[in-house]
Amino acid sequence: MVNDDPNLHCVKCGQPSLFRQGAKAYCCNLCGFVYFHNVAAAVSAVIVCNDQILLVERAQQPAKGKLDFPGGFADYNESNEEALTRELMEELQLPIDNMQYLFSYPNRYLFKDVLYSTLDSFFEIRFDSEPSLVLQQEEISRYFWLDMKNMDVNQLAFVSGQNALQEYLRGKA
Ligand SMILES: [Zn+2]
Repeated sequence: MVNDDPNLHCVKCGQPSLFRQGAKAYCCNLCGFVYFHNVAAAVSAVIVCNDQILLVERAQQPAKGKLDFPGGFADYNESNEEALTRELMEELQLPIDNMQYLFSYPNRYLFKDVLYSTLDSFFEIRFDSEPSLVLQQEEISRYFWLDMKNMDVNQLAFVSGQNALQEYLRGKA
């Protein structure tokens, strides 16, 4: 067993006895409690219109002020498609009626001192004319339509988004 943090307390017995076992499991060596810190499912939208891609500026940590694809975490009992449809309504008030699965990339997401490993699935959504958007301002401060030819993957907040943009642009070249 590996104890990363000697102050980790067991949520069942309350003792400072929680140890990490392997990559994902946390085990209490006093009461036997086990917690698996499994990969979280997340979804992202590559929204395209007239050779431009929509990116949003993050209004919250982590990576506040950096650019990201719209999207978020899947809720319990949701499909990827349902999660992305919900997130785009919440973040942009953008209804969608089609999406095309592209690929997935792993990511690491540090939120309030907890490091989450995520698996981010990317979907392409195409529009013929620029849709109207209403921002959820707690989550997003601004949005940009960026010309595909001039995009820099380092503008993206997370490594999964950087990898996704690189693969998407390579496919268009
Ligand atoms: Zn315990």
